[in-house]
Amino acid sequence: MARLAIDGGTPVRDTLLPYGRHSIDEADIAAVVSVLQSDWLTTGPKVAEFEEVWAARVGALHAVSVNSGTAALHAAAYAAGIGPGDEVIVTPMTFAATANCVLYQGGKPVFADVRPDTLNIDPAAAAAAVTPRTRAIIAVDLAGQPADLDELRTVAERHDLVLIEDAAHALGATYKGQPVGAISHLTTFSTHPVKHVTTGEGGIVTTDDPEMAKRMRWFRNHGITTDHRQRAAEGGWFYEMEGLGYNYRLPDINCALGLSQLRKFDGWLARRRAIADLYQEAFSSTPEIRTPKVLAMNHPAWHLYVIQLVLERLRVGRPEVFAALRAEGIGVNVHYIPVYYHPYYRALGYERGLCPVAERAYAQTITLPVFPTMSSGDISDVVVAVEKVISAYRA
Ligand SMILES: *Cc1c(COP(=O)(O)O)cnc(C)c1O
Repeated sequence: MARLAIDGGTPVRDTLLPYGRHSIDEADIAAVVSVLQSDWLTTGPKVAEFEEVWAARVGALHAVSVNSGTAALHAAAYAAGIGPGDEVIVTPMTFAATANCVLYQGGKPVFADVRPDTLNIDPAAAAAAVTPRTRAIIAVDLAGQPADLDELRTVAERHDLVLIEDAAHALGATYKGQPVGAISHLTTFSTHPVKHVTTGEGGIVTTDDPEMAKRMRWFRNHGITTDHRQRAAEGGWFYEMEGLGYNYRLPDINCALGLSQLRKFDGWLARRRAIADLYQEAFSSTPEIRTPKVLAMNHPAWHLYVIQLVLERLRVGRPEVFAALRAEGIGVNVHYIPVYYHPYYRALGYERGLCPVAERAYAQTITLPVFPTMSSGDISDVVVAVEKVISAYRA
């Protein structure tokens, strides 16, 4: 058996393959340069154009851009009317921002456990967490696979809650044939470089609800009800601030980059799906690994490819497998540390044991690299390295 790199053997690769990577080409650069040479650097024509193209891409009536996926969640929490004393049911298997947006609004995140197969929020657990103070549910389409949106909508409608979907991983994913973006009341996306398309930093919220869209447009601009362009066009100076908003505006420079990126997105999505298919096939006969379970109604966008180790079949735990894969040159990662494990949440009184399924999953997940420009050599390096490490640590 080949000696592991971590034990002094030759690594599968001598450069680290990252788990995700953006792609920027000459067309992207030209799009940004042309905005830099124009009259508008921040809120100008590219913002509206980016929002229109994004809304059309996901089949929603409205899209409101902001300057991060975190700001998108905050705007959605605001539009949903979350305020002090309100409870919001959230999945723990996510990046902290998903739950933090509830805290920003003075609300209380209530963590509901995930399904063991998809690691998406379990609709039964969400239903069981509803109290008279519950205001909303925030689901995440983990790794790009839609959550159980119909079941969650049913729970939301029964209790008059707003369903917010954090689709930071899921641009292009479909649920029962429909793209994510207009299935939940509010759907948020991130355009951070590691996500499907990038604007540098950025985020966007989509909805079919015109009132919520309007509130989010104020919210991203200090709570002011007219934008700079409108005022310039009207030649006026008067404006009113109607709510407490922020400066969450996404500049034209970034929107131009996003528009250029979106033109390439269909090809990138197809490539992610092809890479995931290759992994599914390659690891299907490795009993030490559980490959991601895809539900029949879902067509994931594969932002991440997350395997679960079958620890009973291994001599070591996830930390050793992780370190060994890194030593082989594979930039593995872990998604996610349950949100309430973070010291800030512990200090708020959240304790371990809240969501046993998520906690067990956390101890055994490893994220393998997936990004559109991975070569077939990169993909086979991942497969070879995983097989090498698993064989060495087989119980
Ligand atoms: C990336 C991400 C966010 C935050 O997006 P930013 O653009 O980095 O602020 C929120 N939720 C999830 C699930 C994410 O993956």
